[in-house]
Amino acid sequence: MSNFGRSTVLGYPRIGPHRELKKAVEGYWAGRITEADLHALAAELRADVWRTLREAGLEAIPSNTFSYYDHVLDTAVAVGAVPERFRRLGLSDLDTYFAMARGVDAEPALELTKWFATNYHYLVPEIGPDTVFAADPAKALAELAEAPGTRPVLIGPATFLLLAKAADGAPEGFRPFDRLDDLVEVHAQILGALADAGAEWVQLDEPAYDADRTPAEIDALRAAYARLVALEHRPKIFVATYFGALDDALPALLETRVDALGLDLVNGARDLDRLAGTGTVSGTTIVAGLVDGHNVWRADLGAAAARYATLSGLAEDVAVSTSCSLLHVPVDLAAETDLDPALVERLAFARQKVDEIVALSKVLDDGVGGLPASPGEAPEAWRDQTVRARLDALRPEHSRRGAYADRAAAQQQRLNLPPLATTTIGSFPQTDALRHARAEVRAGRLDAAGYEERMRAEIADVVARQERLGLDVLVHGEPERNDMVQYFGEQLGGFAATVGGWVQSYGSRCVRPPIIHGDVTRRAPMTVAWSAYAQSLTSKPVKGMLTGPVTILAWSFVRIDQPLADTANQVALALRDECHDLEAAGIRIIQVDEPALRETLPLRRADQKAYLDWSVGSFRLATSGVADSTQIHTHLCYSEFGEVLPAIDALDADVTSIEASRSKMEILDDLAAAGYSRGVGPGVWDIHSPRVPARDEVTDALRRAVAVVPAQRLWVNPDCGLKTRGYAEVEASLAHLVAAAAEVRRDS
Ligand code: GLN
Ligand code: ZN
Repeated sequence: MSNFGRSTVLGYPRIGPHRELKKAVEGYWAGRITEADLHALAAELRADVWRTLREAGLEAIPSNTFSYYDHVLDTAVAVGAVPERFRRLGLSDLDTYFAMARGVDAEPALELTKWFATNYHYLVPEIGPDTVFAADPAKALAELAEAPGTRPVLIGPATFLLLAKAADGAPEGFRPFDRLDDLVEVHAQILGALADAGAEWVQLDEPAYDADRTPAEIDALRAAYARLVALEHRPKIFVATYFGALDDALPALLETRVDALGLDLVNGARDLDRLAGTGTVSGTTIVAGLVDGHNVWRADLGAAAARYATLSGLAEDVAVSTSCSLLHVPVDLAAETDLDPALVERLAFARQKVDEIVALSKVLDDGVGGLPASPGEAPEAWRDQTVRARLDALRPEHSRRGAYADRAAAQQQRLNLPPLATTTIGSFPQTDALRHARAEVRAGRLDAAGYEERMRAEIADVVARQERLGLDVLVHGEPERNDMVQYFGEQLGGFAATVGGWVQSYGSRCVRPPIIHGDVTRRAPMTVAWSAYAQSLTSKPVKGMLTGPVTILAWSFVRIDQPLADTANQVALALRDECHDLEAAGIRIIQVDEPALRETLPLRRADQKAYLDWSVGSFRLATSGVADSTQIHTHLCYSEFGEVLPAIDALDADVTSIEASRSKMEILDDLAAAGYSRGVGPGVWDIHSPRVPARDEVTDALRRAVAVVPAQRLWVNPDCGLKTRGYAEVEASLAHLVAAAAEVRRDS
């Protein structure tokens, strides 16, 4: 038997029970607290987590899962992958770290991107052929010193490089993964240093192998771990994998005889079959990820116990864990005092999941008798027969619109828009005054009528500004939306909002995803009054603004007692009704945003088709109930569509706006090549930076675009909403957009 311990978690939330870390880090950025204050607060938060895990009875406890910003960035620092452009700023270690995370005047930050199929974002390491790796394990050592006996966690070398991007200036064809041998040596040094400091175990995360990998990448993984296992001086190595099944990488990792291997048996249970074919595993502890780290439901402990028992017949030594780090769920259900008790008894946040793991870890000794009983059938009140009957009655024609040529003609006749029509993506700056108004409502100092009055004043202002700027299609500006998903979640039946269910999204930014627990119903129109009010102020068309079903699901905790497709279609029906009501209120253009379509694409190609089928289907169900003369827009926040290009075409929107300012309009060729021939609005202003694009820049971009797409189908817009920008940049940039559109219109 190894001394791994019978129970563990792959990671735990680091933000603190009340987002203490956010407040501290932001306080440091604003100069309100010192570096020493920040370190002291962080040490308290860490101590609190370790105490919690220990007192819960967890036998193996991770460390180095704390982070001031991002754990991938922490590993980048630990292996010396700090790009020269940040080193030469000459800042302190902490400020260099934050410069990489957030950028400084002179240097843009590292790129931020989605962590696998979650809503967490990591900073993308920049690796070139000349990157000098060097072990810098100070952070892991410090945490180990604070919590002796814990297991330091780092991103493993293979996944680290697969997540990285080639540094600017790297030769054509260079891949960060080419540097694996070098990086393994640095990991070896870190392992040595950890062993010197008394670490018995180390956890190296290799989730990239739960996605499709080439045989060469799997061979390289095998070689990397064979090398690390062969080290004379090292802690025992636990390779953690998550977000799916390892498939072919499973035998490869077992061959290396790593001391422990973590499998995600929630999302990758088929690895059990694979294991059954390899003969009894000995010498490697199998750490069974049986409790879902990415959703908030209580585990089905009976089923998990059965899996655990099966596993114990396949491997000599087993332990129980989470399917992934608990980073992705809120800290503690105890904070939820306003939730329906029937919901509370079905939920488990991070703290409750630790108890589930401890209980499961005892099953092999004590049998299932010791497990807490499960709550049973969901309450009848969470079902809605009307929406179920509507779903049953759906036919293909409910997801089909008229031919595009007919729609385009009907829309042109009704809207009479110029070529290169100008518009925005929806939101205008979310000012302090707007946030303050919402805080006043929460505090009971502002009533509904007062709030409505303030929002209407804001809408009137936003409409007037757009008219002055001369935009062709206006928006109401979304002042009333705290968040594009939460706003709908608060109004739809079947959704519950938490009071303290914060989850880190990136850096100090946390989100509070709603929980979808029942059938989804639209109790009343959700956006119509705002849009209709905006439309009443202008003769220009105002775009209605909805969040699409896929994005609503992606940024919520979803129910697991029915297929995602059914939940998506329930949301779609609510949005379909909303579209009808918008139309009836005189709204001629409706935008349905789907920024999450790409990000929740399954990691394995084999799973992608089924996903795209239901996600595209739900979008079409939401948007195909309108007349031909109503124009449907969609907005996607990215331009690297890759394998989802055909799906974008299949959405059948009349106009698609996308990010393109950084990709220099190449996306238009890709779209055309994929057969997309409807309206398109390539973003000509990168709103992710405070920079105001010069008018000539926009003109150039539009000239490139009209060479690919006929002007009548081309739209001129920023590449995302303006909620994070200030009015000065917004006014200046939009003025350039409008002027550039007029110029290109004149000579095309
Ligand atoms: N309509 C939304 C906005 O403008 C779209 C946001 C997004 O794409 N993430 O804010
Ligand atoms: Zn966007």
